[in-house]
Amino acid sequence: MSERVDVAVLGMGPGGEVAASRLMQAGKRVAVFERELIGGECAYWACIPSKTVLRPSEAQTEVQRAAGVGGAELNWSETSDYRDYMIRNLDDAGQVEGYSKQGALVIKEDARITGPGRIQAGGQEVIAEHIIIATGSDAVIPPLEGLSEITAWTNRETYTATTLPGSVVIVGGSAVGVETATFLSRFGVHVTLLQRGNRLIDREEPRVGELAHHYLEAAGVDVRLNASAKRGRRDGGSSVIELDDGSTATGDVVIFATGRKPRTAGLGFEDVGVSIGQHGQVQIDEQCKAAENVWAIGDVTGVMPFTHVAKYQGRIAAEAILGGSRKAFYDGIPRVVFGEPEIAAAGLTQQQADHAGLRTVSTELDVADAIARPWTYEKDPVGNLGLLVDTDAKVLIGAWAVAPLAGEWIHHASLAIRARLPLDTLRDQVAQFPTYHEAYLAALDNIKA
Ligand SMILES: Cc1cc2nc3c(=O)[nH]c(=O)nc-3n(C[C@H](O)[C@H](O)[C@H](O)COP(=O)(O)OP(=O)(O)OC[C@H]3O[C@@H](n4cnc5c(N)ncnc54)[C@H](O)[C@@H]3O)c2cc1C
Repeated sequence: MSERVDVAVLGMGPGGEVAASRLMQAGKRVAVFERELIGGECAYWACIPSKTVLRPSEAQTEVQRAAGVGGAELNWSETSDYRDYMIRNLDDAGQVEGYSKQGALVIKEDARITGPGRIQAGGQEVIAEHIIIATGSDAVIPPLEGLSEITAWTNRETYTATTLPGSVVIVGGSAVGVETATFLSRFGVHVTLLQRGNRLIDREEPRVGELAHHYLEAAGVDVRLNASAKRGRRDGGSSVIELDDGSTATGDVVIFATGRKPRTAGLGFEDVGVSIGQHGQVQIDEQCKAAENVWAIGDVTGVMPFTHVAKYQGRIAAEAILGGSRKAFYDGIPRVVFGEPEIAAAGLTQQQADHAGLRTVSTELDVADAIARPWTYEKDPVGNLGLLVDTDAKVLIGAWAVAPLAGEWIHHASLAIRARLPLDTLRDQVAQFPTYHEAYLAALDNIKA
């Protein structure tokens, strides 16, 4: 017999978890479907393990760069033990129990939509008034010739590895490639990073890519730009990537950080009126509605592939189901790459502002030239902040920072951009002395009133 619920949530990554929890708190009967582990990619193979294994070397770098302290040593075995604790040893029994106790119908099976309000999973049928699609995304591995000959990893093998390889070739120089190169190089792995385009992190300002490149090379990473992988082959115990310029890159392992694609195939979405866009994403409106009584959130929507966006959309969809009218808007949402130092951005790049026909002025600040905190923080201070202002509206529309703790203090710019705070209000902000936050005031001083 079919179970009846108010809402069925397909996929229990961060998006699905937030939506399900909010709906249950509001008294809805919820069924949650998860084919792997409750917590999704983020909790076991992405955000959590990557930030956990990046932390020891971050702390070591802090020690090395601060005056009057020394002796920090990395220990991979302790790091990987703590990482395993953080990813719950790939066990979600606690989550299954937790959701069940809260009253959810928990179904640990591959689910698909079989008709309006109908979901089939592991021989069980559930009938739901609303369906939330939160199925996330899969790592993309390009169909290289010779792929089967090489040892190919994605984020999954990388961030659950117990033994680190001696050398790796990372294909892809965006956020995941840069973080992975940072983590592995700090743990003594020889890293070659291949980027097809002419700069790293190419969705951000060119200056951001340039700085990221500089810091990775300083950490010993062999960064190769305009390097397009053509084919793979094995050479004894090594995996070799042949590039289209005739050169090669060799490692024990090849890690593909070549993007992600929304998980939609074969799940019956189109049969209930959901439209799939040209990048395979579920198309949604401002309330995350994908079709009548069908909602979609997180990576599967292709909006911005971040956990904080999946969680935000989870809140928007839950509110819509509960009768609310709040609309999602994505201006100024922060984007952080946890490199050394951190790389953070919010809002538009110059190119996007130009496309939008906005009149702008931009500025870049070397934080060590302007404020005290970098000097109290480290002996040889580094850090850059860039701001982009709409000169007609007199508001901040873009910001980036490559500097210690930038992922924390980018939120000032994020809020200013989202709330369209007048520049005069930002100039009137009194920042605690001495903090990196003061850099905003110094940078705004460079922009004429
Ligand atoms: C290496 C790496 C590091 C990252 N670091 C960060 C970071 O620091 N900060 C950040 O904001 N973002 C980060 N991200 C991105 C982040 O992981 C994703 O944006 C986030 O996981 C998306 O959440 P989601 O709920 O949409 O999907 P997912 O986390 O992918 O969860 C979807 C869930 O749906 C399940 N599912 C799929 N199909 C079905 C089905 N048919 N039936 C049942 N269940 C199904 C899956 O098993 C999965 O558990 C990182 C990504 C990578 C790869």
